[in-house]
Amino acid sequence: MGLFTLLILAALGALIYFGVKGRIVRLREEFAEALRRAQGKRAEKLPSESMVACPTCGTYATAGQQKNCGKQGCPYT
Ligand SMILES: [Zn+2]
Repeated sequence: MGLFTLLILAALGALIYFGVKGRIVRLREEFAEALRRAQGKRAEKLPSESMVACPTCGTYATAGQQKNCGKQGCPYT
């Protein structure tokens, strides 16, 4: 086997290696993107995004509908 044949084989091996690697990376990115999209949709449906916590007692309430929790220093009435 000549040196040239070895070089060709090495080049072919590198091409295949990086081709497969690139495909896997792209698949992983697509999977991560799909996951992000799914999580984004789920987060939209969750009410917690529009919930605000009372800075004094930590009680969560929908924005604009906070009620006084009865604890001293609660800013809501
Ligand atoms: Zn409170």
